[in-house]
Amino acid sequence: MKKEKLLLHICCAPDATVPWPALSGEGYDAAGYFYGSNIHPEAEYQKRADAVRKLAAEEGARVFFERYEPTGWLEAVRGLEDEPERGRRCARCFEEQLYAAAAYAAENGYTHLCTTLTISPHKDADLINGTGRRAAARHGLVWVEKIWRKKDGFKRSVARSKELGLYRQNYCGCAFSARGAAQETEMSKMTEPNEKKMPSGKLSPEALKRNVLSYRGADAPGLLIGPGVGEDAAVIKWPEGKYMVFASDPVVGAENGAGRLLVRINSNDIASKGGDPAYLAVTLVLPPSFGEDGAARIMREIDEECRAQGIAVAGGHTEFNDRYDRPVIMGALIGAADMVMRASDISEGDVIIVTKHIGIEGMSIVAADRPELLLPFMSADEIKEILSWADMTSVLPEARILRRYAKFMHDPTEGGFCGGLDEICMLCGLSADVDRSALPVEELTARAAEKLRFDPLHLIASGSLLAVVPKELVESALSELEAAGIAAAAVGRMGPPLSAPVPEPAEELWRLLKMGKENGE
Ligand code: SF4
Repeated sequence: MKKEKLLLHICCAPDATVPWPALSGEGYDAAGYFYGSNIHPEAEYQKRADAVRKLAAEEGARVFFERYEPTGWLEAVRGLEDEPERGRRCARCFEEQLYAAAAYAAENGYTHLCTTLTISPHKDADLINGTGRRAAARHGLVWVEKIWRKKDGFKRSVARSKELGLYRQNYCGCAFSARGAAQETEMSKMTEPNEKKMPSGKLSPEALKRNVLSYRGADAPGLLIGPGVGEDAAVIKWPEGKYMVFASDPVVGAENGAGRLLVRINSNDIASKGGDPAYLAVTLVLPPSFGEDGAARIMREIDEECRAQGIAVAGGHTEFNDRYDRPVIMGALIGAADMVMRASDISEGDVIIVTKHIGIEGMSIVAADRPELLLPFMSADEIKEILSWADMTSVLPEARILRRYAKFMHDPTEGGFCGGLDEICMLCGLSADVDRSALPVEELTARAAEKLRFDPLHLIASGSLLAVVPKELVESALSELEAAGIAAAAVGRMGPPLSAPVPEPAEELWRLLKMGKENGE
């Protein structure tokens, strides 16, 4: 007999451990649907999505992952931020989730719809079933009404998720519930055993192969000995007549996108010196709670970004260490260059070029970590646009062009455009005369700066490249960048020798990220 196609809306993997097999047992062809845009931050979303993937494999069932769009969800609950859990914000949140699931089910040939949400003893099952009925009716579906927490459903789901080693969260999902539960979360971290928790020390050879060594970035013929269990160091055949450029930068504390960021910040340093990044060594020191999955997630990102940039992963080290509660990731990257760029070659009158626009990295971090700061004066689409700026943080493409024209290049990071330019001045001993009106500041950045009262010129700026170019080469450099589709502007000139020390670097991002949280708000 042909089974009826049911879509099971999944709020998280542990909550699905009982409903999913039960619905299959009732004869449905049950596929999963994971929504997740309510979950904050994205790293938490990834952990929950990974757990759903694992459960789907266990069930041998299909699962669909809705696009992660937290700004759209935040827009939907705008004005309800201060509601308590089980209040109006949660009712709106259920609507967002269940109407999205119903729409997907109808578009993809499902006839029945159900949710795992009613397994939670903290949620209003009648409200959820009522919302589900309306969502299903709107799309001509049959709502399969369940209260999964009955007959010890919740207890059984806790036991089953422990058995399967699934990640279990300690707050409902959104930033507001995370804040409310922060204290409880800390307590539970201290008291609840974490199934994924690793002992301090290295991974076993098999776990290392599975989670770390299988991610090797781009192929590189010069890499004679690469990463492997028992290999102490990489051996590389160096091209004749080239200079070696070497950089090392860490990423401390970040989870989401940390692997990608690690590759980009190191690669930007090599690119700024006129080199082509080639071989990366990665040291991962991870909190035990991060688990093998966490190591694999970071390595997957490193692998993808390395492939995109033509970098081979040449080696490194991985360990779990209970001294840290956030990951510490260290990159050491080498590349080859045909030239040596020295700040001492810069002369008075040379022109300062800046690529793309100011504050790319800082704005994308604010949009990802504190979108609620931007929501009062930006639409969800505008915030989404800022989030996409995170893809612009590599300066390798413009560096490959500008290195043929520039006397010196610099990748401004903390301290923003001003911090980066001050560092150039310090190195060469000359002042700089910048035309502020020529600086490329996007309208969205300018609007945020005005409303949140910060100086975009002091906002962390990875993604832009500063280049000092002799004036006779400026036109050619700018037209070549334009032909490659890279925005750039000449914004000033190097001036006479410095007559006063450059100011201390000032960074705006940290103040922005703390805004409104100082008193535990
Ligand atoms: S507490 Fe949970 S159900 Fe309520 S709005 Fe936040 S994520 Fe949604």
